[in-house]
Amino acid sequence: MKNHDTRGTLYVIATPIGNLKDITFRAIEVLKTVAWIAAEDTRHSSALMKQYGINTPLKSFHEHNEHQRLQDIENALLQGQDIAIISDAGTPLISDPGYILVQNLSEKGFKISPLPGPCAAIAALSCSGLPTENFLFKGFLPAKTAGRCAQLETCQQETATVVFYEAPHRLLDTLEDMIKVFGENRFAVIAREITKTFEQFQRGSLASLLAYFKTHEEQCRGEIVICIAGAPAKKTSEIDAEKILKLLLTELPVKKAAAVAAEITGLRKNELYQLALKLGTA
Ligand code: SAM
Repeated sequence: MKNHDTRGTLYVIATPIGNLKDITFRAIEVLKTVAWIAAEDTRHSSALMKQYGINTPLKSFHEHNEHQRLQDIENALLQGQDIAIISDAGTPLISDPGYILVQNLSEKGFKISPLPGPCAAIAALSCSGLPTENFLFKGFLPAKTAGRCAQLETCQQETATVVFYEAPHRLLDTLEDMIKVFGENRFAVIAREITKTFEQFQRGSLASLLAYFKTHEEQCRGEIVICIAGAPAKKTSEIDAEKILKLLLTELPVKKAAAVAAEITGLRKNELYQLALKLGTA
């Protein structure tokens, strides 16, 4: 076996999600110089190759031959060749093939290097107007209502923005299921056809979005990302605070009870002190 310094590198390269100009100079350079490119759909990727004069051989790499291709890629890397992996659009591995490959090669200590670029989830989130400091990416939901609702329920109380990919013909059914689980007032953003001619960001409550797309069925087309606002963080209610204070007052003096209750509830110490005094005299 070759020593590690002579082994090739696997480049994980992001490609455009619509507008062919959304590719980096480095991505083009590396795609031109690797030994071959593992592409999800070679016919689909040849348009991009043609656009940028990339003549590197393409070999198919999809979920049905990922295990077999893994061996070919590993052999090439062992011979010192560099290999690139691309998907039909955006960042490989993000709701796209490549995980088995990267997991396997990383365990064996191969060098794997990303060439970052477009990703529909990040593009949608960045322009959604929803909070971005925390978010949860859920990828595609199950196709049938029962499975979809079960998945949605797992993030019903999620306070971070939740991002989904969705197929256009399921948009209305999915919005209906989202209303069942999150309620009709939950704010959401439908990002459609990002970077393409008919790019659209439609914002509003789930109910208003459903009404909109029901009356604009011609817009239930193209590629879609759904971003949903997180659930409001639960505040400890005054009733909870009162319960906690009452319990603490059976063991502690007023000042100490208010301080401990403030620690537990996150409410202001002074407010709780006043409440404790009232409870003490009640
Ligand atoms: N790997 C890709 C990425 O980095 O975004 C995602 C691949 S996944 C198979 C395809 C899904 O991504 C589409 O069904 C859609 O939900 C979303 N998507 C891809 N391109 C998009 C675009 N231009 N606008 C909106 N959503 C897009």
